[in-house]
Amino acid sequence: MGWWDHVLLAPKDPITSVTEAFLSDQSPFKLNLGVGAYRDDKGKPVILECVRRAAEKISCCEILESTKATTKSKFVQDCVKLAYGNHSNVVGEGRFAGVPALSGTGACRLFAEFQKRFYPDSQMFLPMPTWSNHHDIWRDSQVCTRTYRYYDPNSKGLQFQALMNDIKNAPGRSFFLLHPCAHNPTGVDPNYEQWKEISHIFKIKNHFPFFDMAYQGIASGDLERDATAIRIFLEDGHLLGCAQSFSKSMGLYGHRVGCVSIVSRDEKQATAIKSQLQQIVRAMYSSSPVHGPLLVSTILNDADLKALWEEEVKFMVDRLIRMRITLRRTLEELNSSASWEHITKQVGMFYFSGLSPEEVHQLQRDFHIYMTIDGRIRVRRNGCKIGSLREYLPHLVSK
Ligand code: PMP
Repeated sequence: MGWWDHVLLAPKDPITSVTEAFLSDQSPFKLNLGVGAYRDDKGKPVILECVRRAAEKISCCEILESTKATTKSKFVQDCVKLAYGNHSNVVGEGRFAGVPALSGTGACRLFAEFQKRFYPDSQMFLPMPTWSNHHDIWRDSQVCTRTYRYYDPNSKGLQFQALMNDIKNAPGRSFFLLHPCAHNPTGVDPNYEQWKEISHIFKIKNHFPFFDMAYQGIASGDLERDATAIRIFLEDGHLLGCAQSFSKSMGLYGHRVGCVSIVSRDEKQATAIKSQLQQIVRAMYSSSPVHGPLLVSTILNDADLKALWEEEVKFMVDRLIRMRITLRRTLEELNSSASWEHITKQVGMFYFSGLSPEEVHQLQRDFHIYMTIDGRIRVRRNGCKIGSLREYLPHLVSK
C-alpha cells in the first residue's frame, strides 16, 4: 500500500457544501441563502465605515512590530469589556484570562483544547440544534459531546421546560455551551427571566457555562443588550468562558478576529489559565495575526468610531428586521392558514424555516434556491427572487 492510499474523502461540511452546490449550478436565477454572512441589497459583502476609518488610522503604524504582548493584551481587555461590561468587577479585578483567537471558531477550539487538557474526562453539552461546527470542534479536541433540548419544532420556539430538565438531569459540574444571543441556527433566545432561571439552576448544579457569542449586537441591534445573558451569569457569581467573534458584528469575516476568555476566581488563577492558553496557541500556530485585533481595538477605543460602529450595527439589524417583516407579509398574503409569526419573533441573521430536508432539496432542484439542509435561511433581500419563491410557496402553505 502506498503512502496515503488509505485516505478517503472526508464527509462534506453541511454549510460549505451548500456553497459548492450553488457555485456549480448554472441557472441565472440561482439564489444562495445558505452562507451565514451579511450582504447588501445587491448581495455584495459590506465593509463597515468604522472599519474603513480604523484601517486608515492604523495604516501607518508598525504592524509588523506589533506582535508585541501589549497589543494583544489591550485587545483582550477591550473584548472582555465588551462582553462582561465596561464596569464589570471581573475586568476591574483582573479576574479573567484571555487570548486573541482565530475568530469565533478558533476561540471555541482553544476552549475545547483547554477543557480537554484540564478536564480530560469531561463532556460538552450542546444545544439541539446548534451550529454544526460545534460538534466537529469538540470531537476533534477529543471531548465527548452530548445534547440538551432547546428548540421545539412544533411551536418554533424555545422548549424551556425540557431545557431546564436537561440541565437539571445532567451530572453535576458539567460543561454547557450556551448561545447568549441570536442562537444559530434557530434565531430563538431565552428571555430575561428564563436566563435568570437558567443561571440559577447552573448555580445549583455547579455547571460550567461556556458562552459562544458570535453575534453580539446582531440580535437586538444593541451591543449591551445582547450581552444580557452573560451579565446575568456574572451577577450571579459564576465563573464562565466566552468565545467572541467580530466576523458578523464588524464584518471582519476574512480577518478572523476573535477572543477566548475565562473568568477566574482571582488574578493569580487568571495568570495561570492565561499561560496555559498561550501554550496551546504557541504549539498550534504560535500567535494570531495582529491587523484585525488592531482594527477592533482602534474602533473600541475611539469614541467617535465606537459610536459609528454602534450605529452601523443598529442599521444592519433594523434592515434584517424589515426583511423579516416583508417575508412574513409576503407569505401571509398567500392566504395561508399557517402562522408565520415565528419569522418576526426569531432574531438575528437566520430564519429557521422548519422546511424538511425533502423540501430543501425540492427548492434547490426546481427553483435553484439554496439553504442548509436543516431549513435555515439567511435573511436577505432580493425582490426578483421572491417571485420564484412565491411560485413555490403555495405548495408549501397548502400542506
Ligand atoms: N459560533 C457560532 C454560533 C456561529 O454561528 C459562528 C459562525 N457561523 C461561529 C461561532 C464562528 O464564526 P467565525 O469563526 O467566523 O467567527
